[in-house]
Amino acid sequence: MDTGGLDTDGRGFANASEMWAEEIGAVPGRGEENACCGGDKRRDWYRKGIAYWQGVEASVDGVLGGYKCVNEPDVKGSEAFLKPLLADRFGKQKRHLVALDCGSGIGRVTKNLLLRYFQEVDLVEPVSHFLEDAREKLSSEGDMGIDAHKAVNFFCLPLQEFTPEAGRYDVIWVQWCIGQLPDDDFVSFFKRAKVGLKPDGFLIVKENIARNGFVLDKEDHSITRSDLYFKELFKQCDLHIYKTKDQKGLPDELFPVKMYALVTNKPRVGKSKAQQYKPGIIM
Ligand code: SAH
Repeated sequence: MDTGGLDTDGRGFANASEMWAEEIGAVPGRGEENACCGGDKRRDWYRKGIAYWQGVEASVDGVLGGYKCVNEPDVKGSEAFLKPLLADRFGKQKRHLVALDCGSGIGRVTKNLLLRYFQEVDLVEPVSHFLEDAREKLSSEGDMGIDAHKAVNFFCLPLQEFTPEAGRYDVIWVQWCIGQLPDDDFVSFFKRAKVGLKPDGFLIVKENIARNGFVLDKEDHSITRSDLYFKELFKQCDLHIYKTKDQKGLPDELFPVKMYALVTNKPRVGKSKAQQYKPGIIM
């Protein structure tokens, strides 16, 4: 990314490469190859990020940075985005739906959204007191009937160290956590995540959006990327945007939030076959 950015102390950076060189010792221009480098600086970046979250209470208010009022509009917005996508991608197929909730925190997204649509949900979260809270809450959720919906696996790992089981997931949900990963680890995580999808499966990324470039948060050691920045990284992952939507109804002082549905094959553009062969006026 060539666009400049800021940190939360108001310091400016000429571009993201300059910031990553400083923060994690990444060598500009080396892209994903950097993921194995940076040694102590990279470890420090992640250690500080985790330390921040370890000091946060395991509650909705905690994982939402003191904005528990965001939970309801967030869940409603996500549902309005997800429902038509499920119909569109899987149609009337009788499919046993499995989702992965990435950086799940206390399982807020799993509990309020994913368990209502997916028979199985796995959670991956590096902070153990969040994951344990999720496990306690979710193991008593859901009915145990034939078509039970349940949280199945709880993986206590950060995304940069997690590899999803190949072909297990219909949907991989990544919300409010990918900013913890520098670009190189972002790209390698999504490349592994793609392998975790079933045919026609898709990824959802729901994240804060910087108006320009990026904003580096010195407190939780995360980065908020612009829409352009995300698009550039999705391209590097060879992921295609199937649909996007802006989240509405959040307090004005917060970053705008965007949802991206991402697929592994280039979506067909233009009219469907049926529309193409409909009689029309010859111009
Ligand atoms: N997605 C949840 C939690 C958001 S809070 C929700 O929307 O409610 C951000 C979460 O990211 C925290 O649970 C934090 O522990 C987690 N996190 C921090 N570093 C991470 C990393 N490297 N990989 C995955 N998750 C991380």
